Amino acid sequence: MELLDWKNLPFGYMKTDYNIRCQFKNNEWGSLEVSSSEYLNVHIAATGLHYGQEVFEGLKAYRGRDGKIRLFRCRDNAQRMIDSGVYLQMAVPPVEMFEEAVVKAVKLNEHFVPPYESGATLYVRPLLFGSGAQVGVKPAKEYLFVVFVTPVGPYFKTGFKPVDVMITRDSDRAAPLGTGNIKVGGNYAASLSAAAEAQRLGYSTCLYLDAKEKKYIDECGPANFFGIKNNTYITPASHSILPSITNKSLMALAEDLGIKVERRPVEVTELETFEEAGECGTAAVITPVGKIFDPQNNRIYDYGSEAGPVSTRLYSLLRAIQYGDAEDTHGWVSFVE
Ligand SMILES: *Cc1c(COP(=O)(O)O)cnc(C)c1O
Repeated sequence: MELLDWKNLPFGYMKTDYNIRCQFKNNEWGSLEVSSSEYLNVHIAATGLHYGQEVFEGLKAYRGRDGKIRLFRCRDNAQRMIDSGVYLQMAVPPVEMFEEAVVKAVKLNEHFVPPYESGATLYVRPLLFGSGAQVGVKPAKEYLFVVFVTPVGPYFKTGFKPVDVMITRDSDRAAPLGTGNIKVGGNYAASLSAAAEAQRLGYSTCLYLDAKEKKYIDECGPANFFGIKNNTYITPASHSILPSITNKSLMALAEDLGIKVERRPVEVTELETFEEAGECGTAAVITPVGKIFDPQNNRIYDYGSEAGPVSTRLYSLLRAIQYGDAEDTHGWVSFVE
């Protein structure tokens, strides 16, 4: 089992044994194919390359104390990929096919699922793109659905510690009625320059505001945002925010714990009233936010150098469910057997 130095794995790509592919052609999906190559043979005129007809997902496989491998809310990822693909006029894999491909990819690479104690996980990356040739701006007639996996190290190598973020007003990752609510590669391409600028200034990432008025909080680059005050979990509602499955899960768990939940527009000025702030997403569950810098007025909102009590409770409970250490009362977990 000691195949790799699990504790020191980066959050990056590493070759595994197999990946799964499936082609949509002549108006139908083919069967799932197993490949041991890391490469695709793609048409030079594929719409995924030229016109960004591409969507993706991210989820993880967790090995429990009992040695069993668990997936967390895989069906929600399947549904979200369908929602994303439908908006981009793509052929989409049915939920069952998505689930089967994920289970197969994990199962075939079982020895890359890190042991329970390591804190490392197997990251699963499903992607779908237009593979058919097209030069006019039209949806492709052919699609490729791929699932690959790669082991990733524990997100917090130095413990559950807050990061600093910076508000961005100079660029937007998604328009008010654009593609912010679906998981398309183009949103990430559009976020790279603002993230690079934030990192150049010493921040881990940027916090986007609503594109129209720059009055409300949207989300952090690849993670949703939440604030805590008066025993209430508050997360922004906006069409340009990606509906994070982690955020949805945290809202449900907060309610279970007797914490109030509000999903509504959050004005920038409300930042000063929060007792805790955090980012959430599959990669880290919760990344506590220490400081938020607003370059417009040189203001710094400070939530402290340690994670707050509510964030810590939610983080521990969600992780415990993912690893099988706490009861899965919502039916979120499925097994790879
Ligand atoms: C994937 C993603 C998230 C996090 O979603 P999870 O389902 O919790 O992993 C947040 N924001 C953006 C923009 C994303 O693409």
